Amino acid sequence: MICVSIGRGRHRHVIAEHKHLADNGVCLVELRVDYIQGAVQIKRLLKDRPCPVIVTCRRSSEGGRWEQSEEARLLLLRTAIVEGADYVDLEDDIAAKVPRYGQTKRIVSHHDFGKTPADLTLLHKRLASLDADIVKIATMANHPTDNLRMLELVHASKVPTVGICMGDIGTPTRILAGRAGAPFTFATFQEDRVMAPGQIGWRQMRDVYRYDALTAKTRVYGVVADPVAHSLSPAVHNAALAAAGIDAVYVPFRVPAEQFDQFLSNAPRWPLAGLSVTIPHKEAVLRYCRHQDDLVKAIGAANTVAFGPDGMAAFNTDATAAVESLEAAIAEQETLLSDGGMPVKTALVLGAGGAARAVAFGLKRKGVDVTVTSRTTERADKIAAEVGCKAVAWNSRHRLPYDCLVNATPVGMHPNVDETPYEKDHLRPYMLVFDTVYNPESTLLIKEARAAGCRTVTGVEMFVRQAAIQFRIWHGVDADPQLMREALKRATASAKLA
Ligand code: NAP
Repeated sequence: MICVSIGRGRHRHVIAEHKHLADNGVCLVELRVDYIQGAVQIKRLLKDRPCPVIVTCRRSSEGGRWEQSEEARLLLLRTAIVEGADYVDLEDDIAAKVPRYGQTKRIVSHHDFGKTPADLTLLHKRLASLDADIVKIATMANHPTDNLRMLELVHASKVPTVGICMGDIGTPTRILAGRAGAPFTFATFQEDRVMAPGQIGWRQMRDVYRYDALTAKTRVYGVVADPVAHSLSPAVHNAALAAAGIDAVYVPFRVPAEQFDQFLSNAPRWPLAGLSVTIPHKEAVLRYCRHQDDLVKAIGAANTVAFGPDGMAAFNTDATAAVESLEAAIAEQETLLSDGGMPVKTALVLGAGGAARAVAFGLKRKGVDVTVTSRTTERADKIAAEVGCKAVAWNSRHRLPYDCLVNATPVGMHPNVDETPYEKDHLRPYMLVFDTVYNPESTLLIKEARAAGCRTVTGVEMFVRQAAIQFRIWHGVDADPQLMREALKRATASAKLA
């Protein structure tokens, strides 16, 4: 069950949001009465409530907004019990001061905004002993292992337990709480109105992560990166999983570089079935993969891992996706040969990071004469040596004409949508222009290329293809690319609004 936290300054807004949520099928809300400005009218909030409530009044030391006295806060919580609130949230230091009464269930909670304590079991035992119907523990995750410890605690608890890790690192615990056996998880009313670090909006929890459908048997996939919050892969993969009726979920794992070793060695504890691997782990991951496909070996980087009985297998779907995207466009272009069109023989790749390397390798394998250019000359030189292609200085990138231009830099990406890595005066109608940036789909480079009469390939095409190849590797079936495309576009639109 998803419990949606409502934190508004005015009673009528709380009541309106409560009604809206109940009308949309939400079965439990948390009324954060510490957000209410002025005197809190508990009776008014509980009267005619459209679905059950948890009444919570949080002090500032626990991330709340309550500024009045502690006596007034205790009185408010006792009033909520007398008025028949379904649940009250009582922090561990006050649980003994607020006695059980009537039907109201007691959630005994503990918050730690700095860390996840070493001994969670001991903490849990103490909370459960305070006449708890439900134990709630919310602690800051500083390490991915904190998530595992929390989920394992939830799973092992006899007393129903909501265990959540806060912060970006802790997001998986919010999504997987129910899978571990928690009675509910917390989500916000709106994506951008979080009340605790790392919270997710309830619609995303319901529609993207399908929280209520996850069970102990649901397989866990995800994207591992740092940062990861911006990743659109969860939207794309979860949409495809739902459409294919596969019992799996795809979760964002924020894992800093220095914690990657331990994250992977703990993979069986989740257990993880597959990962998309991105910055900064694409090269480091190879140390753990006994099986590497040829492309991975050649490129020296992987963006996909599958966990199997024989260990981890690494793949690079970026390179294949980039080439497939270009091939589709080239195939179209070659049909124009008789009309004076031109096949791709030469390509200039802008950038010298992971994407550039994958594209350069992929094109070179197809017999294209590749040139790489980068702001940092040494990086382009390095790729050129590895791929066996040419490098030119960044300032010389406009000097020679190429059949194909690939932007593998982030230039033009949201929010810097007015930037382009290539001057439009140098675009020629015979050029095939491929921008790997997918947010927005129509970058300035793509717009100017279209205006110059060039054929174009967008980053959305590559993104969807690399995700579709991952899907096939992990699940053995094809995803619907159009559905993935639409999910990506919806996610980019809402990311821009946030
Ligand atoms: P990366 O490893 O960080 O490399 C980025 C490259 O861009 C570096 O060569 C960097 O140069 C260069 N660069 C950054 N800012 C620049 C600027 N203002 N002017 C000129 N060059 C600049 O990143 P990556 O993994 O290769 O990804 C690059 C882009 O590819 C991403 O932003 C993403 O949009 C796109 N991508 C798309 C897909 C897809 O599926 N569509 C997949 C992967 C990546 P320095 O070395 O000088 O910093």
